[in-house]
Amino acid sequence: MARRFTSDTLVVASHNAGKAREINELLTAFPVKIVSAAELNLPEPEETGLTYVDNAVLKAVAATKACGLPALADDSGMSVDALDGAPGIYSARWAGPGKDFGFAMERIAREMAEKERATGQKDTKAQFNCTLALAWPDGHVEHFTGVLPGHLVFPPRGENGFGYDPIFIPDGYAVTCGEMSHDFKQTISHRALAFRQLVDACFK
Ligand code: IMP
Repeated sequence: MARRFTSDTLVVASHNAGKAREINELLTAFPVKIVSAAELNLPEPEETGLTYVDNAVLKAVAATKACGLPALADDSGMSVDALDGAPGIYSARWAGPGKDFGFAMERIAREMAEKERATGQKDTKAQFNCTLALAWPDGHVEHFTGVLPGHLVFPPRGENGFGYDPIFIPDGYAVTCGEMSHDFKQTISHRALAFRQLVDACFK
């Protein structure tokens, strides 16, 4: 049985503006005051984990330890089947210090083409993953994971969203996440799927 969230303030421990915005929007229905990691000047811990769960938990625990308030963190990324799950937890790092996702998407296209040449098989399957971790100051942690399966297309399409959205088409749709409206993506995303589990377990 998950622990229920009964505090009036929650720190959203994400330093990625796109993700923090999506998390804030998903939480507006609940009577909880949201404070951002940036507002509190919280340090950004190094993501030393080897899984989405490790990294989400370490970010949430670092934030709650630093400010004494419950903290919500996420770790997310895109795993490409043909690349044995890469970039995965390294999704942000593939874009380099300049956060150049055009560069990261080109690298994915190039490595998928190399794999296709080597194996003679084309496999475009990929997934977006998101783990949300909620940590309390007494050390308790709950975590929830959402997975959005889909496939990749090149060249990138659409101006909306962020990160790898322009190359990712979720299963059951004909457009990339970069072509979807922001509001629509919010209803189907891996983050929304993880969020629904969090809300059902801790906020209802
Ligand atoms: P991290 O969780 O801060 O390690 O960053 C995850 C990275 O995964 C982001 O910087 C994006 O590159 C990618 N990513 C995660 N969620 C999405 C999404 O909804 N759309 C596009 N890219 C995403």
